Amino acid sequence: MGELLADHTTLRLGGLADRFLTHADPAAWSDLVHAASSSDTPPFVLGGGSNTLADDTGYPGTVIRMATRGIAVRPLGGDLVEVTAQAGEPLDALVAFTVDEGLSGIEYLGGIPGTTGAAPVQNTGAYGQQISDTLTRLTVYDWALARTRVLRPGECGFGYRTSTFKTGPGRFTILGVSLRLERQARAAPIRYQQLADALAIRLGARPPLAEAAQAVLIDRRNRGLTLPADGPDARQAGSVFLNPLVPRAQAKAIRAAGGPVYNSPDGTLRASAGWLLEQTGFLPGTRVDRGVYCSQNRALTLTARDDATAASFTTAVEVLAHAVLTTHRIRLQREPVQPHRRSLSRRRTPLDQTCR
Ligand SMILES: Cc1cc2nc3c(=O)[nH]c(=O)nc-3n(C[C@H](O)[C@H](O)[C@H](O)COP(=O)(O)OP(=O)(O)OC[C@H]3O[C@@H](n4cnc5c(N)ncnc54)[C@H](O)[C@@H]3O)c2cc1C
Repeated sequence: MGELLADHTTLRLGGLADRFLTHADPAAWSDLVHAASSSDTPPFVLGGGSNTLADDTGYPGTVIRMATRGIAVRPLGGDLVEVTAQAGEPLDALVAFTVDEGLSGIEYLGGIPGTTGAAPVQNTGAYGQQISDTLTRLTVYDWALARTRVLRPGECGFGYRTSTFKTGPGRFTILGVSLRLERQARAAPIRYQQLADALAIRLGARPPLAEAAQAVLIDRRNRGLTLPADGPDARQAGSVFLNPLVPRAQAKAIRAAGGPVYNSPDGTLRASAGWLLEQTGFLPGTRVDRGVYCSQNRALTLTARDDATAASFTTAVEVLAHAVLTTHRIRLQREPVQPHRRSLSRRRTPLDQTCR
């Protein structure tokens, strides 16, 4: 049966999916594959829909919503444990579970909407921590090889808010995510000044685990980085652009003008997309297109209101990108994903050599 994608995305936009299946029972995955395999294209997989911009025309194929829940803990020896979560487990619930258990490794990822299974897709991250930092393996279904496999982090092409799953969508459905965490009373070293200030500690210090996790939730709420249940900012997909890479000279100029530039672990520099936008005149609360506004707290989050459509949202994203391109000569890359029907390449790739 078809279902409106607007009912399954946090933007509450999107037309009818031809067929909509919900995966809630891990033991029933093969039945679901059977049901979904009648088409020659792989299904579009949806988690919490918090990073998805679905078309007004809907999706001309099968959509599978991942709703499996469950977390298992396996001792690895010493203070290390492996935590495995089902794909449909909310990431925020997983973070809360690990903090309650005194496990360090993902404490800065609390308050991010969406599922654990979607986190490796864009290598979800915040406050200098990203899911790939602690990932040990993914259990995936490979639609090209028609079987379940295990992928190791080195096979997933992780980078800043990207992975093989994002650059080559459709082939893999993530069924389970395993992380190596440490039994540790202290959080990972603080890398963000705002958080350090809130906890009254210096950058690089290790606050108590629960305090760090709590400070993250408060800071996210204060900065409009959470999903409100109602109000003008309730329909959104978080940031609409990634922070762009900038060359050293441009980074220097941005810093001189008072703009934030972040050092990535790989040595590259990324400017704050939100700051660049505000410099072009798009301030929080600005109307950008029909029914689409910059959120009350930040220009980088676009919110949909009553008469918004996926088309007007897309136009608004383009308007912002164009403004930054003409003002700063920086090309912004959109973050939310648009479901497109793709055919599966049957060509063998390096991933095929490492099948397990
Ligand atoms: C208020 C707000 C704050 C946010 N803050 C952050 C942040 O701090 N950092 C950050 O990185 N992101 C942030 N996001 C974006 C988003 O929440 C994350 O990217 C999240 O991981 C998406 O999860 P989801 O389940 O909602 O994904 P969905 O929107 O359902 O899916 C996103 C993509 O992943 C694919 N996908 C989903 N599940 C699977 C699966 N099991 N297997 C294979 N592919 C799958 C989908 O096909 C789609 O391409 C924020 C969003 C909002 C609304």
